[in-house]
Amino acid sequence: MDLPPFARRSTREWQAADAAHFLHPFTDHQALATKGVRVITHGDGVYVWDSDGRRIFDAMSGLWCVNVGYGQGALIEAAAQQMRTLPYYNAFFQTTTPPATALAERLAAVTPAQFRHVFFSSSGSEANDTVIRLVRRYWDLMGQPERKVIVSRLNAYHGSTMAAASLGGMAAMHTQGGLPIPGIAHIDQPHFWAHRHGAAKGLSREEFGVVAARWLEEKIAEIGPDKVAAFIGEPVQGAGGVVVPPSTYWPEIQRICDRHGILLVSDEVVCGFGRTGRWWGCETFGTRPDLMTFAKGVTSGYVPLGGVMVGERVARVLIERGGEFEHGYTYSGHPVACAVALANLDVIEQQQLVQRVREDTGPYLAQQLANLLDHPMVGEVQSCGLMAAIQLCRDIPLRESFAPEIAIGMACRGHCFDNGLVMRAVGDRMIVAPPLIMTRAQVDEMCGLIRQALDRTYAQARTAGWV
Ligand code: PMP
Repeated sequence: MDLPPFARRSTREWQAADAAHFLHPFTDHQALATKGVRVITHGDGVYVWDSDGRRIFDAMSGLWCVNVGYGQGALIEAAAQQMRTLPYYNAFFQTTTPPATALAERLAAVTPAQFRHVFFSSSGSEANDTVIRLVRRYWDLMGQPERKVIVSRLNAYHGSTMAAASLGGMAAMHTQGGLPIPGIAHIDQPHFWAHRHGAAKGLSREEFGVVAARWLEEKIAEIGPDKVAAFIGEPVQGAGGVVVPPSTYWPEIQRICDRHGILLVSDEVVCGFGRTGRWWGCETFGTRPDLMTFAKGVTSGYVPLGGVMVGERVARVLIERGGEFEHGYTYSGHPVACAVALANLDVIEQQQLVQRVREDTGPYLAQQLANLLDHPMVGEVQSCGLMAAIQLCRDIPLRESFAPEIAIGMACRGHCFDNGLVMRAVGDRMIVAPPLIMTRAQVDEMCGLIRQALDRTYAQARTAGWV
């Protein structure tokens, strides 16, 4: 691999420079400086390589985004060509560029029928910030300005800006910086495993799904239906631990939103573009959202791009009654990002990736993961398309968790890295979201690496007396 001159340094040199200058996201900076950063230098297909030349199976697609895998020539060429033609122009002041308008048209064609308009951002966080602005603008224009509250869920992840982190339900993020901002409420998540000794005790998954959805109805009653503007949720909670909801959950949420006239927002930043085996998670779970946020998979992460699909219910009001919408970003509709997205959509369609996940690799992954249920430390496995969770558990018959101070998930993650696999830990839940281009042989390879990591973690747990 030909590396540019700035990249020709040893791992130690990178680690020293990094510790001296780079404050990483979601990182304990002191701990990282002591340990030394991992340097990823290049990628191909489902693999990345580190600066010591080790090949690593990227079972997280970077951060849930490199859906078409690394090294797709069509995306690279699209970026280069657009940079030569017009590297930047804005979408303010009644202006557009061909890639931005072409992508808007293309997105309208691949999204459910209610979506004909898009508002572009550069990230999922900005897209969810935009949702708050749009939702409040909509209710103002509808003559109901008191409808301000957006209901979300505990442990949801909607981004890292002040507003998106507030919409999210991550306790650790709320603790830092006095979040959430006003006007956001949270209900508990439809997490069957997490509620196994409580609200889900004695219930089937489907029964629990209805119970969990009704928490929304209770919250609406508590706040007052005339004050609630919208409900937002990820079809499958990603960063919260790939929490696949019971099949009864989303239809009941839809019923409740319809009943109270509340806007439904589907955060498709992770689930969009085929991850769940359909183009959109809302299609997998049978909802009709009014707004839909996306990012990541729109360009497979090759360049930053995000946005909000705006359903006709909201778009019509904005367009017909609107006046100026006082919101936008310098990079809304960035031409290079939009050109890459168009090439990315071509790859998804030409390689029939959505269909492949739905009919082939998704079911095959579910089957291979089910084999892990014979492992002495696996309490449950859950998957939806090509996203999956493996719940680590101390005592399977009692479904007992490990003590939190053991940090069993982090121990397992360490064994993965040492063994050439990127798998993420969310508490005691190990999660994967591999590139959608993966083959059956690569599903086998990944599941083999997962089993090895589990075996090594179990051996460590036995030696340490944790089991
Ligand atoms: N929504 C969801 C569901 C996400 O998983 C993420 C990022 N992991 C975001 C929003 C925020 O996206 P970004 O990091 O691009 O701001």
